[in-house]
Amino acid sequence: MDISNIMAGHCHYNAAISPQSGPERMKKADIEEFYRRLAKENPEPKGELNYKNPYTLLVAVVLSAQATDVGVNKATKELFKIVDTPEKMLKLGERKLKSHIKTIGLYNSKAKNVMKLSKMLVEEHASEVPQDRDALQKLPGVGRKTANVVLNIAFGEPTIAVDTHLFRLGNRLGLAPGKTPLEVEQKLEKNTPQKYMRHAHHWLILHGRYVCKARKPDCPACVVNDLCKFKGKTTV
Ligand code: SF4
Repeated sequence: MDISNIMAGHCHYNAAISPQSGPERMKKADIEEFYRRLAKENPEPKGELNYKNPYTLLVAVVLSAQATDVGVNKATKELFKIVDTPEKMLKLGERKLKSHIKTIGLYNSKAKNVMKLSKMLVEEHASEVPQDRDALQKLPGVGRKTANVVLNIAFGEPTIAVDTHLFRLGNRLGLAPGKTPLEVEQKLEKNTPQKYMRHAHHWLILHGRYVCKARKPDCPACVVNDLCKFKGKTTV
């Protein structure tokens, strides 16, 4: 798979990228300017998943794998009215949880993970969501990306969770080219000026979702067009 496919949005992760075909890299000063403009447009960016506390955020992020935030929000609207702690989730039980989330893809396995992680939180973390990457990643259904989202949103840590949007943007714009989500994450953490770290994840997700879209980026309307290194920019 060629990197042009990734940059153009035709695949997700794991594509082999030959170093020769990699994108031009954005310069340090341009990266600073890139974030300055995104920050100016949206000084306090918010994620689009609804939650009430760190626990419901964790559940929402686990449910959101390969699903849209809008779809997850619809399913959790009623659920989070009655369940906002791991104890309440255990009391609700797997069968009733499934009936709340059955509109979400992979709901069977997600329901199992939510029940197991709730049990672990009660038994091993005094019913609190741990502010610790390793402890989070030991919870069923929680990978590095989910842990980073929870650390960033619930605890304000300057982590950058690389999802399909960030992976595409890192490569397409020359912001943080990498062959794997982890490589892009590490480069973003290295390249992102400290003062923009806290919100970088949200700015990049929102830019990827609404402007620098996978199949047809809206380059004419893009505020960072002159800084971006993508060779296939759209003109209409
Ligand atoms: S100009 Fe903007 S929308 Fe177009 S590829 Fe670059 S960052 Fe994405």
